[in-house]
Amino acid sequence: MITLDLTLPDTRYPIHIGHGLLDQVELILPHLPIPQVAIVTNDVVAPLYLERLTRQLESHGVHCIPVILPDGEAHKNWQTLNLIFDALLGANAERKTTLIALGGGVIGDMTGFAAACYQRGAPFIQIPTTLLAQVDSSVGGKTAINHPLGKNMIGAFYQPKLVLADMDLLATLPERELSAGIAEVIKYGLLGDADFLAWLEANMDKLRARDPAALQYAVRRSCEMKAEIVGQDEKEQGVRALLNLGHTFGHAIEAGLGYGHWLHGEAVGAGMVLAAAASQALGWLSAEDVQRVVTLIDAAGLPVRSPDFGVDEWMRHMGHDKKVESGVIRFILLKQLGQAVIQPGLPPALLDTLFSGPHI
Ligand code: NAD
Ligand code: MG
Repeated sequence: MITLDLTLPDTRYPIHIGHGLLDQVELILPHLPIPQVAIVTNDVVAPLYLERLTRQLESHGVHCIPVILPDGEAHKNWQTLNLIFDALLGANAERKTTLIALGGGVIGDMTGFAAACYQRGAPFIQIPTTLLAQVDSSVGGKTAINHPLGKNMIGAFYQPKLVLADMDLLATLPERELSAGIAEVIKYGLLGDADFLAWLEANMDKLRARDPAALQYAVRRSCEMKAEIVGQDEKEQGVRALLNLGHTFGHAIEAGLGYGHWLHGEAVGAGMVLAAAASQALGWLSAEDVQRVVTLIDAAGLPVRSPDFGVDEWMRHMGHDKKVESGVIRFILLKQLGQAVIQPGLPPALLDTLFSGPHI
């Protein structure tokens, strides 16, 4: 097991990454102010891992309140959030009861937001069970639910007390979800670490075969980079925006196709190809650089071509992105492979070409 620290101005928490961590409750116990937890999970993850965690905790005298939500992004809303509050209040949970998120990013985001709200703030712990959640959503304290008019529009910055990333839990993850998580891993290489990018090119087969050492290294390097960036800019006033590489395009793909058709990571994969193509159009990347990006994303089992919406629809969907500031879309592009920059706005002619080019 390795442990990273996320250090913020007024808090600091450990991120443990390793194998068999779900059974090592001694990692959790010191973080519980009282011996009571609510384990929030869903009806897919609960049959796999809930009983194991509950048994371990209860054997150490911790009372566990199970909260099993319906699975899926479609349920990341007020109605489902309220089920968490129903369960907490129904069980007389206190302000010091710790909420444990046991699941992917949907469970992590909802549990974190519930913890931020419950009695004005209860402690919470992330046990991410998807690769995407391990490398991205469980770290950094962004929590949210969706509104019918926009994804993640209602939420809070609220940091966990602990992140426990157990590689073994990825064994049951569907192939498509694994690839979606790899998209976010590739993102870190592209935005800030050319050596890691080269490592990913050399080790993609191992990652997709779930080689334990390769997975652990990928999660570790991703979390290191996320922790470093969030440590500099918790509330996304600057450098944290770089983590949105591929996401402005990706969110437009998700919205344009209707949420749920492509997984988030798939849309980010194709979105990173567009970001690379736009960077080439600005003269920052070479054709060979773009080809490297395309080859790697394809090797990860992700789509490299975006849907053909037409430029007007692209602009409309990108206009709804949270990265829009005073009407200007802040694109995250690549100065070179391994170095992302914020680019406020792009020339209309470039966007026209981009959205009718070979990457569409
Ligand atoms: P998810 O939570 O929907 O999980 C994907 C699927 O895998 C679900 O069906 C889930 O039940 C299942 N699953 C989870 N763990 C499993 C396991 N170990 N074995 C088998 N099946 C398992 O999706 P996700 O990709 O983990 O997360 C996406 C969500 O994360 C989105 O809502 C997105 O907005 C959010 N997100 C948040 C942040 C952040 O900073 N807070 C960052 C990125 C993404
Ligand atoms: Mg993402």
